Amino acid sequence: MHHKLIIIGSGPAGYTAAIYAARAELHPIVFIGDQPGGQLTTTTEVENWPGEPDGIQGTDLMEKLKKQAERFGAEIAGKTITEVGLSSRPFVVKTGSDTYSADAVIIATGASARWLGIPGEDRFKGKGVSACATCDGFFFRDKKVVMVGGGDTAMEEANFLTRFAESVTVLVRRDELRASKIMQERALANPKIKFMYFTEAKELIGDQKLEKIRVINNQTNEEHDVPADGFFVTIGHKPNTDFLAGQIELDAKGYIKNVPGTAKTNVEGVFACGDVIDPYYRQAITSAGTGCWAALDAERWLSNNS
Ligand code: NDP
Repeated sequence: MHHKLIIIGSGPAGYTAAIYAARAELHPIVFIGDQPGGQLTTTTEVENWPGEPDGIQGTDLMEKLKKQAERFGAEIAGKTITEVGLSSRPFVVKTGSDTYSADAVIIATGASARWLGIPGEDRFKGKGVSACATCDGFFFRDKKVVMVGGGDTAMEEANFLTRFAESVTVLVRRDELRASKIMQERALANPKIKFMYFTEAKELIGDQKLEKIRVINNQTNEEHDVPADGFFVTIGHKPNTDFLAGQIELDAKGYIKNVPGTAKTNVEGVFACGDVIDPYYRQAITSAGTGCWAALDAERWLSNNS
């Protein structure tokens, strides 16, 4: 159960790291976790992956990346890592029942969008409900869109959506936005964006696809329905790092701290890439890019340290 390199995570970052590492003959094993393929498997069509001019389904893209990693000899393990020991070498990673050791580890466990957990949200995912305007905004040309959130992401995505949507209604649970002043000003000045303060989404309603949002004013408890073809939840992301607590340096929000411009962490021989180090760009292609960093950093480190 000893490997030169263990990769934890199977999104674009993990598989890109695996492709590079396998081609460098590091014989990596990839633990694909409980959401094999990562967040892209929850979207429908991906239109901004370079080299796919006709777009590609998220699940197909991830299957291709997996095949490409396997082609060069990466071993794929359908298991989830629940615990790691990074304080001494060889490093140790554990599933519920098995223990594996490695000379180097790449962590690519990604992040999860926060959802509201209201009725209809799961049912309409991919049929009007999304957590990523950059990914799905294009499908809402001349449509009515409702969004939840008052942070920088919500402001940025609301502005982005107005390129396509007929209108964007932003539901804000307090009477003020959390976003930075400049982002607020930009959104407030956009005539296509309307704000509803003290307002929360209660239920998503529709037949085959989303039709309206039942909203509630949390001051008066009054409810009414807002027509919507699209519903974007932009209330932040959570990095998947709970299993790393105490083992590696994390920032205040739980993202792994990397040495800027590299995949190096504060633990020598442990590298991190993809959304787990990136609260900002969060794109498949940027994740793949840092996955490449991680494999190259690991390869260089291993050649000097083993
Ligand atoms: P934030 O945590 O900054 O904001 C989350 C927003 O969602 C808040 O308005 C919050 O409301 C609201 N919210 C949270 N939970 C709920 C809920 N259950 N129901 C309704 N509303 C809810 O996350 P972001 O993703 O916006 O930003 C993450 C980080 O990335 C920030 O540091 C941000 O500055 C940065 N960023 C910077 C950008 C830029 O500079 N261009 C662009 C995008 C992000 P409340 O305020 O009431 O808690």
